[in-house]
Amino acid sequence: MTRIDANTGLAQIRGQEKARKLIHRALASDRMPHAFLFRGPEGVGKQLFARAVAAAVNCRNSNGTWACGECPSCRKYRSGSHPDFMVISPEKGAIKIEQVRRMCQALSYPPYESPIRVVLIEDVHGMRVEAANSLLKTLEEPPPDNLLILTADSSKEILSTISSRCQLIPFYSLTVDETVEVLLECERGLDRETAGMMARLAEGSPGKAMLYWKTEIMVVMKKLAGILSKPSPDFDRDAGQLLQIAEMMSDLKENLPRLFGLLRIWLRDRLMVISGLSERAGSPVDNGTPDVERVKCWSSRRLFGTLEALDAAERQLARNCNRTLVCEVLLFSLCSPNNSFAEMASI
Ligand SMILES: [Zn+2]
Repeated sequence: MTRIDANTGLAQIRGQEKARKLIHRALASDRMPHAFLFRGPEGVGKQLFARAVAAAVNCRNSNGTWACGECPSCRKYRSGSHPDFMVISPEKGAIKIEQVRRMCQALSYPPYESPIRVVLIEDVHGMRVEAANSLLKTLEEPPPDNLLILTADSSKEILSTISSRCQLIPFYSLTVDETVEVLLECERGLDRETAGMMARLAEGSPGKAMLYWKTEIMVVMKKLAGILSKPSPDFDRDAGQLLQIAEMMSDLKENLPRLFGLLRIWLRDRLMVISGLSERAGSPVDNGTPDVERVKCWSSRRLFGTLEALDAAERQLARNCNRTLVCEVLLFSLCSPNNSFAEMASI
């Protein structure tokens, strides 16, 4: 039986053929590994996939492949009430040692009703050494009837003591077309053109694209693009608007680095036009399509200056400088006549 049911989450996952193949082989074999590590970019379906695997291992009709979506066990997964599925999520950015200890204790008891208890440990890349060390013994040899699935962002470091004890399942960025299909399926009311723009900005990550859609990131980015697109920003005339945008930027809080990522893509598009590598002046965040001549008004010096100012702002944030102040200085720096970024270093 190879049925893939939308309710177990797998139908929402596009691409990831290698992961499907490796997991399918493991599910169909007699010997399942005791721990998988799903590693890949953010927002490409790792956690949905882990839930699909959890449903499959306890599905009463799976016959060694994917979940049926209809049996009593699958219905519990669908409603989020399966007693033998445990999810450990980072608390304040990382899995803590207390969480690992509580989980290890829970694993010393047999599963409530299923052949296998599945534990999903999310974002293990943020784990500190002490928390990781307390997990190692369980990871190497979990109590019988338990399967551990760990997820980690491939752009971040992960302790080798963790990765070496798991079977690695690699995940990859999706194509723009695949990302668009996921967005249209998941977000009713989203038109294909907007989905296409967001897919491109999210660089193959439907999770990131949905975040842009659901948060204020796109709204702020459009305002930012609007003011930066002016041929000659007027420091005095635009001061009120700049302060307002800086406040909106600051309100993005932990999503502010994502806005900076979008701004880099926007700047890269302009650099491509200025250098003659692209004819397309419009970026998905521009309102309408700016004409090529106007984009060419940007000198490469101004572009590089803007990028350096952005780097400086990121460094300030990493040092826990006041977020609003960093945003204000960044914006005034970008819109000042000389596009001076030297001021950034003096905060
Ligand atoms: Zn089932």
